[in-house]
Amino acid sequence: RGFGSTGGDPPSLEPPSPVPQHFGIGKLIGKTALITGAGSGIGRHAALLFAQEGASVVVADRNLAAACRTVEAMHELDGQGVAVGGDVSVADDVAAMVAKAEKVYGGLHIIFNNAGIMDSGDDNVINTPDDVIDRTLAINVKGVIYGCRYGIPAIVRSGGGSVINTASFVAFMGAATPQIAYTASKGAVLALTRELAVIHAREGVRVNSLCPGPLRTELLMKFLDTEEKKQRRLVHIPMGRFGEASEMAKAALFLASSDSSYMTGASLLVDGGITSAYVTPE
Ligand code: NAD
Repeated sequence: RGFGSTGGDPPSLEPPSPVPQHFGIGKLIGKTALITGAGSGIGRHAALLFAQEGASVVVADRNLAAACRTVEAMHELDGQGVAVGGDVSVADDVAAMVAKAEKVYGGLHIIFNNAGIMDSGDDNVINTPDDVIDRTLAINVKGVIYGCRYGIPAIVRSGGGSVINTASFVAFMGAATPQIAYTASKGAVLALTRELAVIHAREGVRVNSLCPGPLRTELLMKFLDTEEKKQRRLVHIPMGRFGEASEMAKAALFLASSDSSYMTGASLLVDGGITSAYVTPE
């Protein structure tokens, strides 16, 4: 499978090329991964990367057509994958995603609870309507809880593995461009991830959160639809650019594979330096 890659990429101020730079070296051979929200953005890139590394991937998304497109792209790379539709805020749907992994591939070793939303009605604490708060917490928090509720026992049945929950840099910092429901949801993901990590550590299950900075994906760019809105954010990013979904996929691969074998309960920030910055370069 593919060509070897021995070193890491050098640090770069430029976004990576959209064309894959190398094929996998088999970091996930023999593993089955379930990735939610894998029809788009981070989840899609992670599905393709995990498959290139030898994993069998259950590609879950409430948009089944998008999930199927990801699987088609995986097959073009000679990867193994199957699509499943479903809403992570519905417990039975998540149970069915996990059941699919066990039925089709005989087990589950990795769950990447990545599906999440940023609702256009999300605002400050005074103006955000209840339905926006409920919808955001149902998908971003209960969706992760359901993934862990059904995914962790399956991982234990398979002899152990890794859970990755997607939080965000906004769980660490306040923003004057408020999205109160989203921010609260990502803080909850950080907290519940730590507790799950402690509870399941001696069952061979590692649980970490991935905390992306602002990315050039549809989720954020449909919000930042003017140059002024983009610049309002870019000035705070030391590296001076938005992140790429492919860069988050690489961090997810690190957490999914044995490269991170002594990490659990961690919050991995991949944010272009935002959370370390007071003043950024001119
Ligand atoms: P995206 O919108 O490109 O992809 C999200 C995918 O999740 C979509 O395919 C969508 O159909 C699916 N999805 C949404 N709700 C679902 C549900 N209830 N059930 C099943 N699938 C559902 O988003 P992205 O940028 O790739 O974001 C992925 C994760 O990363 C999210 O949790 C998001 O909060 C987080 N994140 C994103 C950014 C960013 O700037 N894009 C920054 C920090 C964190």
